[in-house]
Amino acid sequence: MTSRLIDDPVRAPAEAAPHARDLAGLDEAITRCTACPRLVEWREEVARVKRAAFRDQDYWGRPVPGFGPADASIALVGLAPAAHGGNRTGRIFTGDRSGDVLFRVLHDVGLASQPESVGLGDGLSLRHTRITAPVRCAPPANKPTTEERDTCAHWLVRELDLLRPTLRVVVVLGAFGWQALMPVLAGTSWEIPRPRPKFGHDARATLAATDGGADLELLGCYHVSQQNTFTGKLTPEMLRGVLEHAKELAGVG
Ligand code: SF4
Repeated sequence: MTSRLIDDPVRAPAEAAPHARDLAGLDEAITRCTACPRLVEWREEVARVKRAAFRDQDYWGRPVPGFGPADASIALVGLAPAAHGGNRTGRIFTGDRSGDVLFRVLHDVGLASQPESVGLGDGLSLRHTRITAPVRCAPPANKPTTEERDTCAHWLVRELDLLRPTLRVVVVLGAFGWQALMPVLAGTSWEIPRPRPKFGHDARATLAATDGGADLELLGCYHVSQQNTFTGKLTPEMLRGVLEHAKELAGVG
């Protein structure tokens, strides 16, 4: 697939991801990925047409890498960037209502330096926390295909591998993210319990380490989607509760 925005594309995440030596290198490689033709076309089309409210802005229009320090002990995992959110700003969960709720609560519990995430270069930093996703490109109707999910999974497998020395807890936002994360976890240093843990708000599962290192705690949380936060299915207090639990399990103050 030819990209209008990328001159030096990465076409095969399965080959490229294992060679990333650190998170900075991985993030950079991700931003050059063109492995999924449908998603390349969609993300660039959205970036070209734009939403009226953002007409004057330059959209990112590329895959969106994870955000947060390389020694994070907590990972927050959604599903994929939003067309006019991460695909516009270049930062995951940034530029839409979901992100507004998420970053405010992250700041409340001391995991974000400021309550708002505006875009790259806004000075925001995260403490102990990395936000990432199993699919890095905004999909039409927020629905990646199984093939796109499987193709993109290699990036997250490597990301979890690089975070492995410090990572203790993964908070999964929403059932789709939970479902997409399972095959990713199967390629890491932790074992998925049988039967497979089911998603739910406050669901918890412990994944035993297979490499002699620390186990991984998996926590479920309703997605911070506008639908959930507007209807009160997920309140800021509920999100705060899950993040406080994650901090406790990760041993961070
Ligand atoms: S979804 Fe993932 S694998 Fe597919 S083009 Fe985007 S970054 Fe590459």
